[in-house]
Amino acid sequence: MHEISFKKLRVILLDRDGVINQEPGPILTPEQFIMIPKSSEAVARINAQGWKCFVITNQAAIARGDLNQAVFQEITDKMHHELQKSGARIDGQYFCPHHPDWENGKRLTEPKQCSCRKPGTLMLEQASSEHGFAPDETVFIGDTTTDFAAASGWGTPSIGDNFLINLSCLNY
Ligand SMILES: [Mg+2]
Ligand SMILES: [Zn+2]
Repeated sequence: MHEISFKKLRVILLDRDGVINQEPGPILTPEQFIMIPKSSEAVARINAQGWKCFVITNQAAIARGDLNQAVFQEITDKMHHELQKSGARIDGQYFCPHHPDWENGKRLTEPKQCSCRKPGTLMLEQASSEHGFAPDETVFIGDTTTDFAAASGWGTPSIGDNFLINLSCLNY
C-alpha cells in the first residue's frame, strides 16, 4: 500500500478504457469511443491544479489484428478532441500494442511477454524518464487489478475509476 502524498503530487496517470471513456467492449473505431460523463471535466480540474496528466493504456486489439495503429491514432485524436470541448488536456499517452498470445493478428504457439503491457511497468518508467517525475509524485487512476498491480509494481499509489469523476472529494 503506497500512501498518496498530496504535497508532492504533480502528475496524474490515467488508464483510458473504463476511466476516460466507456468500455462496453474493445474500442475498435472512433465511433465506439464515448466519453464517460464528467471525465473530461475531471481532467480539466487536474489541469487547473497544474498537474500533468498521462494516459497509460493496454491496447491488445492491435496484437490481435482487430485494430491498426492508424485507427488507434484516430481514436486518440477523438479523445483529445472530446477533452478539448471541456477545456481539458492530456499531456501524453503511452500504449502497449502487445498481447502474450497474439502478434500481427496471429495466435502465437509460444506466449511472448512484453514489459510494457500492464501489469508490467515499462510504460510508467518511460513516462517518468521522459517527463521527469518519480513514483511518489504521481497517482494512478485505474479501473482494474491490472492497473493497480502496475502502479504498485512501480511503487506508486493507485485509486479506482470513480475517483476520476469524484476528484472533488480530494479537497485539494
Ligand atoms: Mg480500464
Ligand atoms: Zn507491450
